[in-house]
Amino acid sequence: DIPLPTTSEILTIINNFIDDMDIVVDQEVIDEIALSFKGLNEFQIKQILNLAYQDGGCIDADDKLLILKEKEQFIKKSGMLEIVNFSETIDDIGGLENLKEWLVRKEKVFANLDKAIKFGVDVPKGIMIIGMPGCGKSLTAKATATLFEIPLVRLDVGRLLGKYVGESEENMRKALKLAEEISPCVLWIDEIEKAFSGVGGDGGGNDVTTRLFGQFLTWMQEKENTVFIVATANDISRIPPEFLRKGRFDELFFVDLPNGEERRKILDIHLKKRGKWNRDIDSIKLIKETVGFNGADLEAVVKDSIEKAFIEGKDCITTEELLQSVKDTKSISSTLKDKISQIKDTVNKIDIKLASTPDLR
Ligand code: ATP
Repeated sequence: DIPLPTTSEILTIINNFIDDMDIVVDQEVIDEIALSFKGLNEFQIKQILNLAYQDGGCIDADDKLLILKEKEQFIKKSGMLEIVNFSETIDDIGGLENLKEWLVRKEKVFANLDKAIKFGVDVPKGIMIIGMPGCGKSLTAKATATLFEIPLVRLDVGRLLGKYVGESEENMRKALKLAEEISPCVLWIDEIEKAFSGVGGDGGGNDVTTRLFGQFLTWMQEKENTVFIVATANDISRIPPEFLRKGRFDELFFVDLPNGEERRKILDIHLKKRGKWNRDIDSIKLIKETVGFNGADLEAVVKDSIEKAFIEGKDCITTEELLQSVKDTKSISSTLKDKISQIKDTVNKIDIKLASTPDLR
């Protein structure tokens, strides 16, 4: 491992560059940019500074985006973590107001990370989002990275498993180190219950998973870096309880099936995304008929109606068409009835915040 420049070394590189080019850059901008450069080597940093300078004849806060792009290339080459590309923002999430509000508060810290750390603010560690399938957990992971303006990298524990003794642990160490090096970033662990299933069980495979889990827990406990973890899960009955203890994540959120107001917002978002929202659509009727639908079901209803309207040569969508698609769609509550009540039962037993605000209609 060749050590990468520390924050103070990065500051020296930037200041030398500024002197050489004879330009004036605000100290605050220098400090923020220095944090974004973490994870890159001296050569890469100088190259990006040159690019930024050529771009506008100065170095400013907008250059953080340029650094982000370069980092993406760097992660891709390593193969240990997967860089996720997407375009979702917080406005694409219908409902989940408590969760969104919490994230917006943390964004204030991430947007001014250097200032916040100097002020004494604890760097946010991450969140665990538990809940029903197809209700926006993955969407939230993506929207978080957009909101914080940092890369989203996915840790696939299955991909780290190796054939030889100790190989998996070494891969996990490398992946976590890489996440630290490229931080600030969002480290997304999807379906964490599957990643660490078998923890505590008997047998060779389970031993490895247990060790990986322990390694990850220790890293999380001790971490003082700017890697923000978003862990998502459906079935927490399979998650080792140590994982949910206070101090590991900043907060645990439960994402339930959307309530009436949330179903209206989700339908609107998907209709608007496809340019087919109109004020004549009767949302009250639709809300009544979609009890038990998740976000993915509602998206499917919109897609289906739009396709039908196109095939039939219509140019707008009516409530009747949407209601017909609702009838034709088997909602998650009917197809996964047992799983849903099991998720609710286990969630009731832990201290967890609701992602949604109550429906006050
Ligand atoms: P799973 O547990 O199955 O992975 P998930 O909770 O991660 O599910 P997502 O992948 O976020 O579900 O949602 C699936 C799709 O459903 C999304 O691409 C999105 O279009 C739609 N969707 C779900 N929830 C919402 C929501 N709250 N607002 C808008 N769209 C939503």
